[in-house]
Amino acid sequence: MAKRVLVKYSGEALAGESGFGIESKILDYLASEIKTLVENKIEVGIVIGGGNFVRGVSASKGGLIRRTSGDHMGMLATVINGVAMQEALEYYGIDVRVQSALEIKEVCESYINRRAIRHLEKGRVVIFVAGTGNPFFTTDTAATLRAIEIEAEMIIKATKVDGVYDKDPAKFSDAVMLEKISYEQALQDNIKVMDDTSIALAKDNSLPIVVCNMLREGNLLKVIQGDSCAVCSKVFN
Ligand code: UDP
Repeated sequence: MAKRVLVKYSGEALAGESGFGIESKILDYLASEIKTLVENKIEVGIVIGGGNFVRGVSASKGGLIRRTSGDHMGMLATVINGVAMQEALEYYGIDVRVQSALEIKEVCESYINRRAIRHLEKGRVVIFVAGTGNPFFTTDTAATLRAIEIEAEMIIKATKVDGVYDKDPAKFSDAVMLEKISYEQALQDNIKVMDDTSIALAKDNSLPIVVCNMLREGNLLKVIQGDSCAVCSKVFN
């Protein structure tokens, strides 16, 4: 069983059906799933995206807002989500720290690798926000980066689908879910479970990526425990 993991949620994961903002029912559910991991002595880092509020690419589309500023807005959106997740986890009695790649010291700690590791060792969940702190990156890349930095054994990309498919399951009814796929194949076949930068970073550092459905109750724990009933796809060599 993995001892330390990094879970990546997209911002949209928090939004529910509407795709915008934060739905407290979903937040509550996600926090309860993380609680199960903590109860099983798993050290958990979390990265949350910000797509439920702003994405730099969309914000800068009309030309009024520069992409760099749009990305700053997107990174700040991840802070909103991280603070919300912190509250939900604390509601369940879990010790949590939020660490930001951009300094916002009135709201949360700044990212300090050694401090993050110390929190994890003490059984605290650490939520990493503001992505990498740099425009033109994504929170998938931030998640991979942080996973490597905290020496997590895997990155779990928690999605609304069960895993990686050979084609888009929303478009093709005969799409087949792949249990395992190599980094090279994921890059070559342009399988968009994570962006290319994050897959390449995981590949270079031999970090396994596990794609699973966050909406299947108890699945996250099964994935980490290596339970044969776990529903997921693994990207590794
Ligand atoms: N972002 C960024 N640098 C980073 C991470 C994120 O500039 O290192 C910005 C970017 O604009 C991105 C937005 O933050 O679109 C929200 O992140 P992302 O799109 O990855 O969120 P998700 O799709 O996971 O909700």
